[in-house]
Amino acid sequence: MDRIRLGKTNMMVSKLGFGGIPIQRVSEDEAVAVVKRCLELGINFIDTANAYTNSEERIAKAISGRREGLILATKSGSRKREGVERHLKRSLSQLGVESIDLYQFHGVNDFDAYGKVLDPNGPMAVVQEAKRAGLVKHIGITSHSMDVAKEAVKSDRFETIMFPFNFITCEPAEELLPLARDHDVGFIVMKPLAGGMLQNATIAFKYLLQFPDVVSIPGIERVHEIEEIIQVLEGPWQMTEAEQSEMQRLREELGTRFCRRCDYCQPCPEGIPISLVMTANSFVKRLPPETLFSGWIADGLAKGADCTKCGDCEERCPYGLPIREMVEENANLYQAEKRKYQEQAASR
Ligand code: SF4
Ligand code: SF4
Repeated sequence: MDRIRLGKTNMMVSKLGFGGIPIQRVSEDEAVAVVKRCLELGINFIDTANAYTNSEERIAKAISGRREGLILATKSGSRKREGVERHLKRSLSQLGVESIDLYQFHGVNDFDAYGKVLDPNGPMAVVQEAKRAGLVKHIGITSHSMDVAKEAVKSDRFETIMFPFNFITCEPAEELLPLARDHDVGFIVMKPLAGGMLQNATIAFKYLLQFPDVVSIPGIERVHEIEEIIQVLEGPWQMTEAEQSEMQRLREELGTRFCRRCDYCQPCPEGIPISLVMTANSFVKRLPPETLFSGWIADGLAKGADCTKCGDCEERCPYGLPIREMVEENANLYQAEKRKYQEQAASR
């Protein structure tokens, strides 16, 4: 598989990386098998996170004895010094490695979080110390906010940026990606399949292949998924006329109801994490029940039921999404999934 230089990290990563969210959902044997298959197919870039429950441990099992040549990326979502210290220690232990190639600040979606990450005695200081000690090789950031992402790239404090990019969320092509090129910041494509919303992998990856210097990390759960994507990478890369029209059709169909998770619609007077609720469908598809129905994700998704339909958020959404309607639909979907899960658990 083709390799690309990941910006100023100078690491040569496979054009396609492995996104470690969905392997939480399958059995351990299946998870290990899918990671191993990815390695056989030439993928050398594996991305996971402290927050992805057993993902790091499963990856560790798959890469055991094959560490050399692999580029491992993980993340911490903590905004506190002690939290990042704890997460980093745990990731090293769970991955069973002596160093992490790319350590990222996870989901830095507003300037409050960005400021906390850069606190001179906070998370950034911890990771810089770890870098000096050889525990971390490079430092990156992930975000859903265009404004935060641009600021992070311009700051030259991060070697990589991970941001959602696909043929629906195509805004990064305009400014963020050129900016990353100017600053030699490696660009990692989060959600190339829009978190499972885009079913047509051929069109999704052909779209991204026109950007030769980005690495995409689709979340992979099954061997056949990665094999399908790799076939697209093998070419021909040009979209046929039929594929162009299908892409256009999907843009029209999904674009009017597709949340980019930019959070411009906030604040909600009821404290609803609107973008989280709007993308409940994607979480339901990708997360295991233990994560979906407990902790901050469950709390956030359950808040959708509190929507008073005031409409304040719709005035602020640059994409004109029918937020009230979509929050209601997704809140109902989440509640229905939860009931189904509880009924299944009770009948076991
Ligand atoms: S319509 Fe619902 S989600 Fe939007 S701001 Fe009002 S309460 Fe919040
Ligand atoms: S609803 Fe609109 S403004 Fe809010 S996160 Fe989604 S795309 Fe952004």
